[in-house]
Amino acid sequence: MSRHQSCLVLNAGSSSLKFAVLRRDEATEDLHQVLNGQIAGIGTDARFEARDANRRVVAQRRWSAEDSQRRPALLEYLLAWLGQALPEDRIVAAGHRVVHGGRGFSRPVRVTPEVLAELQALVPLAPLHQPHNLAPMRALAASHPELPQVACFDTAFHAELPWVASTYALPQELSYEGVQRYGFHGLSYEYVSQRLAALRPELANARVVVCHLGNGSSLAAVHAGRGVDTTMGFTALDGVPMGTRSGSLDPGVLLYLMREKGMGADALEDLLYRRSGLLGVSGVSSDMRALEQSTDPAARRAIELFCFRVAKEVAAMAGSMGGIDALVFTAGIGENSPGVRAEVCSRLGWMGLAIDDYANGRSALEISADDSVVPVFVLPTNEEKMIALHTLAVLAASAPNGREADEGQPCSTARTPATC
Ligand code: ADP
Repeated sequence: MSRHQSCLVLNAGSSSLKFAVLRRDEATEDLHQVLNGQIAGIGTDARFEARDANRRVVAQRRWSAEDSQRRPALLEYLLAWLGQALPEDRIVAAGHRVVHGGRGFSRPVRVTPEVLAELQALVPLAPLHQPHNLAPMRALAASHPELPQVACFDTAFHAELPWVASTYALPQELSYEGVQRYGFHGLSYEYVSQRLAALRPELANARVVVCHLGNGSSLAAVHAGRGVDTTMGFTALDGVPMGTRSGSLDPGVLLYLMREKGMGADALEDLLYRRSGLLGVSGVSSDMRALEQSTDPAARRAIELFCFRVAKEVAAMAGSMGGIDALVFTAGIGENSPGVRAEVCSRLGWMGLAIDDYANGRSALEISADDSVVPVFVLPTNEEKMIALHTLAVLAASAPNGREADEGQPCSTARTPATC
């Protein structure tokens, strides 16, 4: 039986393992998602859920508190389940989302023991994310050494930021140590920029501000498809307020909290990452949809602050490029909240930016009014597809004699039918 070539995409967090399987269409060479889902509640009450391409739930399962702590076993369960669920697919590689590539990794890379060691050394730069991103790579390398793995970085898109955009005004010894602005959400920016260029070729060399607004939010200035500025910096805390993260703060606030409130690193981390942002301002929820549905005035204030800060950063990103030729909204809030888009854009009327209420209400591809000086787009992001595209490209490039890496490579294990 001839089997489809597919790529497994893994996005591992502290308590969740999100996955997607993308299948290569032999005729068009394009990739289509056939399954996605996650194991949530890892460490406490692990729950598995998978959905098919039509978003229908096709499998669910729960684990005991004890079994919920066995991370490698949960990953093995996922692989075995995929083998059964997709008998016609042959998973030829796993692509991982990795939050930090530091200065060394400016493009996706095949995972080797040396690469893993270098990524481990970057843990201090992203202690809340990087260890979780690396754990499934190690587990897969041990249990399925024949399966090629590729690391794709959230920072890579911003690797060529001009020095003025990547440098903090600190003593430069700190810069040499790596205390600099890196930027994140790069896989989303890359995907969205490529989509915009495909849909509107006349904008391929344009100055585009992309607003990635989700639980985590940032903006990027993208000129001719390359990142030239972004709102997140050394960590994913900087920039606009997020679901539970503060966004930019006067660093003096931290000194005050340390001196006057006796807060240490752990307490500050908890405050800035988990108790601030939309949740901190509203006291109601970190979730934009819940805030929009709430009648509490504090919820409204949180939305207003969010929109104010996003609009301000759109102007800042445009300033970094000397102008703006297009504005793009993406991610959960950007794709789905006409209210936020309208409020952000109404603050940018001075730029000649105007939206069409009907198109905005339907989240159409292009939501700007006919007389808007700058076109405004809503483009769904697809970080999983970007990872799968990178993964298969790295695999093809690293294949001997330019052959597809999986051709003629016998798979040595029967434990995961999906991988061989
Ligand atoms: P993550 O950063 O976790 O990937 P998402 O991109 O999924 O997050 O975005 C989640 C955010 O999108 C939440 O604040 C959620 O409320 C918001 N969102 C999703 N759908 C809607 C909607 N229809 N209206 C308003 N906000 C929405």
